[in-house]
Amino acid sequence: MSSESEQKMPYIKIDKERCKGCLLCAEVCPKKLIKISGKTNKRGAIYVEAGKGCTACAMCAVICPESCIEVYK
Ligand code: SF4
Ligand code: SF4
Repeated sequence: MSSESEQKMPYIKIDKERCKGCLLCAEVCPKKLIKISGKTNKRGAIYVEAGKGCTACAMCAVICPESCIEVYK
């Protein structure tokens, strides 16, 4: 038996140390899930964080110039 809540939802992982805070990912996400964290990484950039509700469309991962987003589904 399976229920909706037991099924794994898609999500992304952002390598915050490689993120340069360009916000291209935030602009392309159709669900507007990616937001500026307000926190600074070791390279001095304000990195981004993702909220819940990802559809694994991978648009953020494709556009990221630093290739620091991985999509899981
Ligand atoms: S994979 Fe798609 S829905 Fe998920 S965070 Fe990236 S752009 Fe948004
Ligand atoms: S596109 Fe990549 S480098 Fe730019 S803010 Fe998003 S995760 Fe960071």
